[in-house]
Amino acid sequence: MAEYDNSNIFAKILRGELPAQKVYEDEHTLGFLDIMPRAPGHTLIIPKRPARNLLDIEPESLAHVIKTAKKIAIAGKKAFNADGITMQQFNETAGGQVVFHLHVHIIPRHTGVQMKPAASVMEKPEVLAEHAKLLKEALA
Ligand code: 5GP
Repeated sequence: MAEYDNSNIFAKILRGELPAQKVYEDEHTLGFLDIMPRAPGHTLIIPKRPARNLLDIEPESLAHVIKTAKKIAIAGKKAFNADGITMQQFNETAGGQVVFHLHVHIIPRHTGVQMKPAASVMEKPEVLAEHAKLLKEALA
């Protein structure tokens, strides 16, 4: 497996070199909106410690990510009046991973509504800003 490469997009977001609609942050994790959401409220949770994916992350760091994923799932269900939540996590290119800093997707779902294909439509910044606001209110 390749080494962790700190020039990936999510490492840049962590370092503040690229913008993101942040919805949650603590000592160990960051949650921000996916710019090409598969459904409204689609959030990515990442560890602050470098890890390429599930295959190399330290178990403690993974535990922090899962704790945050649960918080975001509950907030996403409330904020978007969702019927359910899809959690996804991909590992290596063959596993569907595109950005090589571990991330968990939390996607609010509604009965009978299909998700958009992955990374298909870039959302408008003002829509992402509104969705981030809803999530932050639900987390408060
Ligand atoms: P994966 O690696 O799990 O297949 O997917 C990477 C995810 O990152 C995709 O859902 C894609 O829409 C999202 N993504 C790609 N580039 C950016 C970016 O610059 N900012 C944000 N917030 N999300 C991104």
